[in-house]
Amino acid sequence: MRDPRYDVLFDPVKIGPVTAKNRFYQVPHCNGGGYRDPSAAAEMRRVKSEGGWGVIFTEQVEIHHSSEITPFIELRIWDEDDMPGLTKMADAIHSNGALAGIELAYSGTNGPNLYTREVPMGPMHSPILTFTSDPVQARAMDKEDIRNLRHWHKLAYRRAKRAGYDIMCLYGAHGFGILQHFLSRRTNQRSDEYGGSLENRARLLKELLSDARDEVGQSCAVAVRLSLEELGEQGFSNAELRDLIGLHAELPDIWDFAHGTWEACSGTSRFKPEAAQEDLIRGIKQLTSKPVVGVGRFTSPDLMVRQIKQGILDFIGAARPSIADPFLPNKINEGRIEDIRECIGCNICVTGDMTQSLSRCTQNSSFMEEWRKGWHPERMKPATSSRKILVVGAGPTGLSAAHRLGLRGYEVALSETSTELGGRVARECRLPGLSAWGRVRNYRQGQIEKMANVAIYRESKIGADDVFDLGFSDVAVATGSTWRRDGVARYHTLPISIDAGMPMFTPDDVMDGKLPAGHVVIYDDDHYYMGSVLAELLISKGCRVSFVTPSTKIAEWSVNTLEQGQIQKRLLELGAEIKTSHAVAEVGAGSVTIACAYTGRLNEISCDGVLLVTARLPNDVLYTDLMAQKARWADSGIESVKAIGDAQAPAAIAWATYAGHRYAEEFDATDIGDALPFKREVAGLRD
Ligand code: ADP
Ligand code: SF4
Repeated sequence: MRDPRYDVLFDPVKIGPVTAKNRFYQVPHCNGGGYRDPSAAAEMRRVKSEGGWGVIFTEQVEIHHSSEITPFIELRIWDEDDMPGLTKMADAIHSNGALAGIELAYSGTNGPNLYTREVPMGPMHSPILTFTSDPVQARAMDKEDIRNLRHWHKLAYRRAKRAGYDIMCLYGAHGFGILQHFLSRRTNQRSDEYGGSLENRARLLKELLSDARDEVGQSCAVAVRLSLEELGEQGFSNAELRDLIGLHAELPDIWDFAHGTWEACSGTSRFKPEAAQEDLIRGIKQLTSKPVVGVGRFTSPDLMVRQIKQGILDFIGAARPSIADPFLPNKINEGRIEDIRECIGCNICVTGDMTQSLSRCTQNSSFMEEWRKGWHPERMKPATSSRKILVVGAGPTGLSAAHRLGLRGYEVALSETSTELGGRVARECRLPGLSAWGRVRNYRQGQIEKMANVAIYRESKIGADDVFDLGFSDVAVATGSTWRRDGVARYHTLPISIDAGMPMFTPDDVMDGKLPAGHVVIYDDDHYYMGSVLAELLISKGCRVSFVTPSTKIAEWSVNTLEQGQIQKRLLELGAEIKTSHAVAEVGAGSVTIACAYTGRLNEISCDGVLLVTARLPNDVLYTDLMAQKARWADSGIESVKAIGDAQAPAAIAWATYAGHRYAEEFDATDIGDALPFKREVAGLRD
């Protein structure tokens, strides 16, 4: 039963000529699949419809071939060839009564056109402003270009309506859409009626919205998505945005707001709390009679209700919370708050777009596997036998495996050496900025504690002999991994020379409470979060930190989680001495020798201790012991033994939860031999 406090979240709300059944609004988000994996993307949205969202949007949809953002994979509405995929997605969104929104994008100064090879166009002559510093400039649009742009939008509105979409949203946020490029003095220094005053800079917005209303406004809502604050010289500020809304308060049917850059808007939990944009959005609703939607990584229904009751928002916008839990609205509606799988704010989902792979989610392993593998975030296929499974290790891998096997109805025992469940997540969530990561454990532990068919054994270290005595048919070894002490990772693939006189540390030591003191060299050849998080910790404990990495920037891979700039800023502000493009070559008794990654030139840093953040090795003793004694399996009734997660090959936490889920889906599946273990779509050949 729904808690009446949350009733307001389920009010129907009118958006122009259409009505959303509730206030849960899945704002546009990429998924790394886009035009390459249309059925996978459509099924992902269908599952959200099933989960109760009132409005569900596509990712950004490029309206014309003269502006596209290759290498990033989004959707397109260029011509009739794009219609089947877009229609399939709209149908999927409608399947459970959600309104289908389409985010129409013309990338302008943000689109390098690497694929179509068209000359990009924007408000003025300008290098393309994107992540990749492509050697391409946009040319300034003349009046005919602007007329063409309006015409291309009209074609897109008509097609989008024909494909079944209810809400047409013009994209002008995150620095990605041409509307923002026209609105901002940073990117619009025109001297004609489209530049200069705010009224002039907003002319294109006004024209495109009016055209949309004329074309499709009787049956479709017209929306605009704008940045709340563009930082930097002459950026489109929050004050100017409010002036704009003052000018055109009633022009769209709904105002949708996102923070200035994608990095600022989709901040990780390490840097941004829930509802981080509240100050920028408060008061805007009072400037217009039209509904307002905003985001803030909302997972708490109480916080959502406050946004509505305090008149800050009309719709609870969500991308990541809807990825982590597509059933968030239904769970609130059914009074199942404790079942919500809260987003941890890690941005692993974003990395799928940034790497043009297929997005994955740390919390929801079925994300983008709904169609490829038929996985579902809430349901599992039932057990096919009475096999009993022993899962050894309760880190993210073991917890996921136990939870998913439990959902299938199998009898499961989960044994864990420690008193506490969670493995690396339990340890890492105590590090600076990572507390939300504990949700990976909290959700799964909460779920399996309710399951009569899953037994949890704490302080229960399992050896091979125990396994032979216990009588399980299947054993999943999820015993995790251990950080290396020998300097081996990417730069050094052979151990480095280490003097026994130097106090040496690994992340495991630090998480066990064994801390270095004095001047510490952190050698980071891992390139994700651990090095910088430990630097923050050691500085807070009074250490002086020299941060050495062979990369040209700190935490290089975190470019993909949109964190790199903030991580480097934070370490600089905390006073860490940063030595990029260098590797530790040798560790002496009171110093380390570092080598330039380009020239090999050597330097020395005297220090009191060295923390190696390099690579990990699987804890695979149990697995190798069991494999070595295969001859004994039959007598003990053992049918299968498998190492999963970090115990097989260490990776980020999202890989661990995926490995646990996959084990539960597939451990009893029929052998498919060499067949591909997922469905895919291959472009049709044209004569
Ligand atoms: P993963 O990320 O793959 O889940 P973790 O390192 O987070 O790996 O978790 C592994 C868990 O397995 C840890 O909590 C550890 O205490 C536990 N573990 C390791 N070896 C054994 C064992 N032999 N018996 C029971 N638990 C074990
Ligand atoms: Fe949230 Fe991380 Fe999942 Fe993205 S990957 S939705 S940030 S839990």
